[in-house]
Amino acid sequence: MSVALTFYGAAGTVTGSKFLLETGRARILLECGMFQGPRELSERNWTPPAVGPATLDAVLLSHAHIDHSGYLPRLVRDGFRKPIYCSSGTADLLRIMLPDAAPLNEEEAEHRNRTGATTHRPALPLFTVEDATRALALVAPVAFGTPFSPAPGVEASFSLSGHILGAAVVHVSAEGRRLVYSGDLGRYDVPIMRDPEAVAEADTLLVESTYGDRLHQKDDATGVLIDAVTRAAKLRGWLLMPAFAIGRVQELLYRLRELEDSGDRDLRAAPGRA
Ligand SMILES: [Zn+2]
Repeated sequence: MSVALTFYGAAGTVTGSKFLLETGRARILLECGMFQGPRELSERNWTPPAVGPATLDAVLLSHAHIDHSGYLPRLVRDGFRKPIYCSSGTADLLRIMLPDAAPLNEEEAEHRNRTGATTHRPALPLFTVEDATRALALVAPVAFGTPFSPAPGVEASFSLSGHILGAAVVHVSAEGRRLVYSGDLGRYDVPIMRDPEAVAEADTLLVESTYGDRLHQKDDATGVLIDAVTRAAKLRGWLLMPAFAIGRVQELLYRLRELEDSGDRDLRAAPGRA
């Protein structure tokens, strides 16, 4: 019997991750991300993916970032009623992030109605807080390294991807084939995150490569951070650091605290520390 994989997002772009895995007996959605970015991308959220939400047996989730999880409330609104499997760290983050995303949709709809920037009248939110709450009720946390069966004839497990709190590489076996899906991959030797675990084997490896065409600097960014903070302090100005709210911000705060604790004189002299 064959296994089919269909891409409904994160193909030709890096958001909106949604991959449908089908066997003769099971239909599983890997990831349920929202498209993010310019309007031509975010509008794709309004074209329902042909996954048949009510026909799915489960959703498997690598991590909580909205481009991997943010479409869940809409999937539930459109009829999905089965478990959403993820790690317990991801479940914890979803409880914060999904209800937090809903008012943004509601505000956007309200703004479009007010400004007339809509082809649908009235413009409706993609999902509401209530949809997010219903999605959260379906979340089924599973510990790392623990095998589970999300659907008949399908085995799965999670291993550490080192990306953000709770982030996993997802291992799925069905019909004698092993699919490993990376989600976003973390780096080695990053503070506050455990290193990604090596993947031993796979028949199909699905790797997300948002930064696949770039090389990381050999050293960490501490020098850049010290220079930026010192310069802002000397100018008695502010330092604005755009960063992903979940993941990069915690690492930045950790590094800043580390620098404070290391007793660097220039940093200690900074007025109104970051
Ligand atoms: Zn991510």
